[in-house]
Order: sequence, then C-alpha cells, then structure tokens
Amino acid sequence: MGKKVRIDNDACIGCGLCNSISPATFDWDDDGKMKAIVDEIPDGEEDAVEEAVGSCPTSAIIVG
Ligand code: SF4
Repeated sequence: MGKKVRIDNDACIGCGLCNSISPATFDWDDDGKMKAIVDEIPDGEEDAVEEAVGSCPTSAIIVG
C-alpha cells in the first residue's frame, strides 16, 4: 500500500510547483489552490512527490 498524501489547503499558496512535478498526484482545486487527486501516492510517483514535498515553498504537502 502506498503512502498517503494530502495538501494543507490553508498553507498552499497555489504556486503550481507540485502539479508541474507530479501531475499524476496533484491538480488544481476550484479555489485556485492545489489538491491531491489521489489518497495514496501512485506507483512510480514516490520520487516526484518527495521532490514536491521538498520544493513546496510553504511545506503544505503532507505525506504519511
Ligand atoms: S507546491 Fe505547495 S504551495 Fe505550491 S501549489 Fe503545491 S502545495 Fe501549493
């Protein structure tokens, strides 16, 4: 089973970085912020999500 992933909506500033790194995991919400479109990190996206976690300017991506 993959690790869980979600985004803290209050912390996200909608910079779009995580979507550009892992579009299979993250996509835009209706409010101009980002959301995880999956409950668990998709197979093969682990490294990309890890990069997104490290790149997010507000540490809004929560894994585990
Ligand atoms: S990288 Fe962080 S701040 Fe930027 S859209 Fe993704 S979750 Fe939001």
